[in-house]
Amino acid sequence: MSKQISVECEGGVSGETRIIRVVSNSLTTEELSAEATDVMNQMIASLVVLPDLPELAKNPVELGTILVCCRAIDFILTQYGFLPRNLGSELYHILTSSDFDQCVGSSSAATRTGHVYLRRSADGAPLISSFVPCVCHETVHLSAAIVVEMERLTDDSIQPTGIRDGLALFGSDEKKYFRGLNEAVTDHIADLVGTLVLGAVDLLEHPGQTAKDLFGQVSAYQPQEVVVTRLCQHLFPDSGGAEGWQLLLGDYWNGSSDFLDFVARRWPLAYQAMRIMDETWVSAEYVLRLLDFQDK
Ligand SMILES: [Zn+2]
Repeated sequence: MSKQISVECEGGVSGETRIIRVVSNSLTTEELSAEATDVMNQMIASLVVLPDLPELAKNPVELGTILVCCRAIDFILTQYGFLPRNLGSELYHILTSSDFDQCVGSSSAATRTGHVYLRRSADGAPLISSFVPCVCHETVHLSAAIVVEMERLTDDSIQPTGIRDGLALFGSDEKKYFRGLNEAVTDHIADLVGTLVLGAVDLLEHPGQTAKDLFGQVSAYQPQEVVVTRLCQHLFPDSGGAEGWQLLLGDYWNGSSDFLDFVARRWPLAYQAMRIMDETWVSAEYVLRLLDFQDK
């Protein structure tokens, strides 16, 4: 598996503390220097939260879905000018429903620091409207930039702290910000992935139909995506919002903050709204009313 990791030293040395900023799409170390490899190993040890799971062998449908999603995200990345991630099926773990409940939570799928955890669909469950959208969505999370800060405490002790995953920012107050924005962008890209995947197996019925048309309201983050679409249209009217989405995809994949920097300069209230919008529809509704696009 090829790797893409960039490690940049940021801020130099501050007393005995050296902060290294690591931007990585997956927790791999092949291209790193020896020192950076040590740092990455510390990060892996510290951040992988589910190390020993009783995972199930992937059945052919699960494996096929995962592989085609990995191919699709690489195709989309290269279309937008990014390098492919070359994700592999070993990063995806299928769990029984009860193990998933116990180890991961009540959702149907989750991505944690470079690994995707998926719930085995019950016999007879409609894979096309449940498992496939989940894999599309989590594959996008897996492709996102992770930003980790490394603090050297002593010569042989390094403290890694995850500060950003995609667009979601881990605050020093242990809260997570820009969560709704992160899910909106993830879902936006997941629709592109799903459309490619469904097109590849000839399931789309007419030109222009997308995964969302077929999956329907499966996505829980439709309200967040509506908010972000309206914001992009408002801030980038000449391109109908496309320029805003382009900035968001760049920030999502390379760890930059061009979109949010722009929003903070042009409309501070919208920046604050993006900061607090979470994954719930109540939160998205609140932000939609707060920003009151119809009057603008
Ligand atoms: Zn998500």
